[in-house]
Amino acid sequence: MPTDVQPTRIEADRARFLAYQVACPFDGTLVGPRFVTREQLDVPPSPPYAATVRCPNDKQLFEVVFR
Ligand SMILES: [Zn+2]
Repeated sequence: MPTDVQPTRIEADRARFLAYQVACPFDGTLVGPRFVTREQLDVPPSPPYAATVRCPNDKQLFEVVFR
């Protein structure tokens, strides 16, 4: 069975993310900018871009791709 090294990725509206209205895909905890671990600055600054988020509840890492 191949190992999936890609992080879980979800799409979210940027305004909703900034307003903490985006749910963790693992347990549904609402997350926002405070939980971003790494902005992906190698992506051009115009939308869409992504941020890596760590859920404060289950500590899972996932990517939020802004649309
Ligand atoms: Zn979670």
